[in-house]
Amino acid sequence: GESVFAHLPLVPDPPVFAVMAAYGKDPSPLKLNLGIGVYRSEDGKPFVLNVVRRAEQLLVNDMSANKDYLPITGITEFNKLSAKLILAPDSPAIRENRVTTVQCLSGTGSLRLGAEILAKFYHQQTVYIPQPTYANHPNFFYSVGQTVKTYRYYDPRTHGLDFQGLVEDLCSMPSGAVVLFQACGHNPTGVDPTIQQWEQIRQLVRSRKLLPFFDSAYQGLVSGDLEVDAQSVRLFVADGGECLVAQSYSKVMGIYAERVGALSIVCKTAEVASNVESQLKLLIRAMYSNPPIHGASIVAAILKSSDMYNEWSRELKMMNDRLTRLRQQLVDALSDRGTPGDWSYITKQVGMYAILSLNPDQVQFLTRKYHIYISSDGRINMAGLSSKRVPYFVDAIHAAVTGG
Ligand code: PLP
Repeated sequence: GESVFAHLPLVPDPPVFAVMAAYGKDPSPLKLNLGIGVYRSEDGKPFVLNVVRRAEQLLVNDMSANKDYLPITGITEFNKLSAKLILAPDSPAIRENRVTTVQCLSGTGSLRLGAEILAKFYHQQTVYIPQPTYANHPNFFYSVGQTVKTYRYYDPRTHGLDFQGLVEDLCSMPSGAVVLFQACGHNPTGVDPTIQQWEQIRQLVRSRKLLPFFDSAYQGLVSGDLEVDAQSVRLFVADGGECLVAQSYSKVMGIYAERVGALSIVCKTAEVASNVESQLKLLIRAMYSNPPIHGASIVAAILKSSDMYNEWSRELKMMNDRLTRLRQQLVDALSDRGTPGDWSYITKQVGMYAILSLNPDQVQFLTRKYHIYISSDGRINMAGLSSKRVPYFVDAIHAAVTGG
């Protein structure tokens, strides 16, 4: 008989994976992948941090290590260290045991677990996400039946923050609504609020009793400084209020495939935090029982050794310097070339991404004529570029905006 799944329609791959697959199939030696957000070295190769190699060596040589199941919440030390990384080593919230942190399957798993607990227990089921945002954000909340709405964030006319719009939207959200913020290095725009703007956002969030949910996937890659990039989250914890924080180690340690992240829930009291943790355990148990050990062991080894932590900080700074240099080279080359338009905003945007003012036709043109792969919204992964590919990329942009 016919398959019980015969009624399932074929759906396309998520766009970013479709771009990656198309790039893989393109035989041209000129091809350039500025699509998916992974860091690349100057020669366009995947980049494994030296400190990660060192930590892995330590793990391999550690004969006392084993492969038993981890607790449901993962490696206790990893959780403690992750909370300190984002909230500060001397965070009063951590000292007062008001924070529960659980090891999760990278940023994605942390966001999904946060959505799960909110869906199950939180009184307000509307979640606001920035417009635009990381393409997977709506899915976490849709998947658990929540209502997803957007707040104004990016202004394409200024290539900057629509702060006025953001403030107006915060003011009109229903009391208690969950608001998702990207802690730093906003994907896909590369546009972050200033610290003064964050403070205004914080005041509004608290006075309107909204619940902030931070997504931190680029800590250290944005300013080159782990402390500076944590400032937004720390403002919201310093006021004693509650929030959720999803951390990802994919980009900041270049361990994408290890799937290492953490969800922290900052609560009002230690008792609430431990009750929350008990409920997180039930949710995790039903989804995947307990997390994998290897990637989180790498992260814990790096975070607990001041020597390796310092090496990590230096490597982050070096990665950040390369991104900054490439932004400047790109803007200079477009200006030297006389390409129409003001491209200086590229150096104002931060982190791994820039949004180029290209329409979908122009993006298609880049791919068809120049074998350059970027997201249809014009987002480019700066790390996919290199000094020697800048002239080629500029030729392509020039042709795209001057009509070929
Ligand atoms: N959050 C943001 C803002 C991202 O850009 C990404 C990945 O691109 C993620 C979360 C999820 O990444 P991962 O699941 O690899 O940690």
